[in-house]
Amino acid sequence: MNNVSNPVALITGSSRGIGAACAVRLGTSGYRVVINYLNNRDAALEVANDIRNQGGIAEICQADVGKQQGREILRNFTIESFGSVDVLVNNAGITSQGRRDILEATEESWDLVFDTNLKGPFFLSQLIAKDMIGQQRVRPGVIININSISSYAISNNRADYCIAKTGLRTLTELFANRLAAENVLVYEVCPGVIASDMTAPVKEKYDNLIEQGLSPIKRWGTPDDVATAVRLLAKGELTFTTGQRINVDGGFHIRRL
Ligand code: NAP
Repeated sequence: MNNVSNPVALITGSSRGIGAACAVRLGTSGYRVVINYLNNRDAALEVANDIRNQGGIAEICQADVGKQQGREILRNFTIESFGSVDVLVNNAGITSQGRRDILEATEESWDLVFDTNLKGPFFLSQLIAKDMIGQQRVRPGVIININSISSYAISNNRADYCIAKTGLRTLTELFANRLAAENVLVYEVCPGVIASDMTAPVKEKYDNLIEQGLSPIKRWGTPDDVATAVRLLAKGELTFTTGQRINVDGGFHIRRL
């Protein structure tokens, strides 16, 4: 199924959760994938082996997207492994450290959240866009940012996370505008409440909210729900559409009375 002419997808933070689901989905749909992780090498290997066992091609790369050196390692690893990059999924993200009330929020958490969730996607997009611009391709290059309902629905105990995700919306529009003439499409996928390690500590809270009708579709979202949207956008078939947000949130974004 896979060969050297297959498109290449780089998915940040793909050892677990939403990123892992995106890597498996793309890796079993004819993409050669780079799985990026920060700490969990074993989890990243498991994702890669899952893809390989299904006939796909995958490599793993340890790198911190919040650091310039990490982003360069990731970019160079991808080019050295596969020669090009066609799809970048900016997925790596962390929640507010300690989930403290806004009056107790710390600069340490702010810096870590902003480096990982906003600075990382900005400068990695910049790096990868330059490679995409130089490439000959049949289909457009695609950059997909994994945003959040927290970009517009605030939580007082995750201020840094919410503000960084709001910035990610503008980032999507900026790159969509700049890269439109370069045959690169830029989108964001906006998940609602998704079952992952990130939300495990607040499971009970969201169980209750979902039961009370938080979203019209009354269930937790899954990483696979998000991967399905990413897979659709990654194809690059929506050639007159860029800067678009796809909500994967059970209808949470609909204002209701
Ligand atoms: P998760 O289960 O906690 O997984 C986070 C992933 O990011 C892991 O693979 C982790 O690697 C990696 N990572 C963390 N910091 C990194 C760094 N500095 N550099 C490289 N990789 C890093 O999170 P998730 O729930 O799947 O969330 C993924 C994305 O979806 C995030 O951007 C998040 O904001 C967004 N999102 C999540 C939800 C939700 O309800 N879960 C809702 C809306 C949006 P290691 O395994 O090595 O630690």
